[in-house]
Amino acid sequence: MNALQQKVEQVIAVLVTAARDFPPVVFANSLGAEDMVLTDLIAKHRLDIGMFSLDTGRLPQQTYDLMQKVREHYAVPLQVYFPDSVLVEEYVAQHGINGFYDSVENRKGCCYARKVEPLRRALAGNGAWITGMRREQAVTRGTLEVSSFDTDNGLQKLNPLLDWSNKDVWAYIRQYDVPYNKLHDQFYPSLGCAPCTRSVTPGEDIRAGRWWWENPENKECGLHASHGSGGASEARVFGVSAQSNVGSAAHDVSRNQNHPRKECGLHASHSSGTSREAHVFGVSAQGNVGSVAHDVSRNQHPDNKECGLHVSSTSLEASRIRVREISVQVHDTQKAIA
Ligand code: SF4
Repeated sequence: MNALQQKVEQVIAVLVTAARDFPPVVFANSLGAEDMVLTDLIAKHRLDIGMFSLDTGRLPQQTYDLMQKVREHYAVPLQVYFPDSVLVEEYVAQHGINGFYDSVENRKGCCYARKVEPLRRALAGNGAWITGMRREQAVTRGTLEVSSFDTDNGLQKLNPLLDWSNKDVWAYIRQYDVPYNKLHDQFYPSLGCAPCTRSVTPGEDIRAGRWWWENPENKECGLHASHGSGGASEARVFGVSAQSNVGSAAHDVSRNQNHPRKECGLHASHSSGTSREAHVFGVSAQGNVGSVAHDVSRNQHPDNKECGLHVSSTSLEASRIRVREISVQVHDTQKAIA
């Protein structure tokens, strides 16, 4: 058995033990190179470990491409968590859409709304979570352990790749033909949100492209808060009004499930409502599926290139024409009877 294979066996042993000792277990898949190694191992060995990703709303297109590829390539479902729209809207109103460039505090506020709060929801109710963190990735990660209790999130946290080198990660990806983010081929060794990640030059630290305008000791987003600060104090410090989101996990979930803004609503103003279109567009929603909506979802004709936001005037005009046609028919029928 070669050195890489030995490391792989150790990782599998950690994952199997975690699934046995701390069920239910979830893997926080950032879709980075390390996490693709873990994805491959969890899927291949059919481990009883759930998998989720956080969509911050600011990810590069290449990350979305990989997210889709994971769905198609592996049998393990990837659950995607989105930020609480109210938190993001408050943040943007207060600091601006790109306010994270203005200060470390503003940057961590954005990371709180787009990453930390959704992570809390994703972890709620689990016994342990798995990450792809490695010790050599950053000065902030030097004291990590393979398994420790995450006091901020209230569950066990496991970092099975902790002692892997960057070379190990890529050796595994090449050997087993694992899908990966194409930005890695363009000198992006560490990936995050598009506006906060740049490429690095040869010899630069692998996380030099993340929040490159900040000092290295600040370069954490709050997802791994046990080696930083976290929780309610974090939300306050970062200027996000989130009292109702930093309480118990159960409260977090119910708040998000019940909030009225958690509807798309894009397509509700025309035709008969949201349920019909949700069904046609592949979202599970019981309802009446109509032929018109079916045409819209399939057809790429230029006439159909509307997202639904501005379609109400067109629909209105179509309705007016139809009413006129019916009036003429009625009139003709009355004349014929007379
Ligand atoms: S990485 Fe940048 S855009 Fe993404 S959540 Fe953090 S501050 Fe916001």
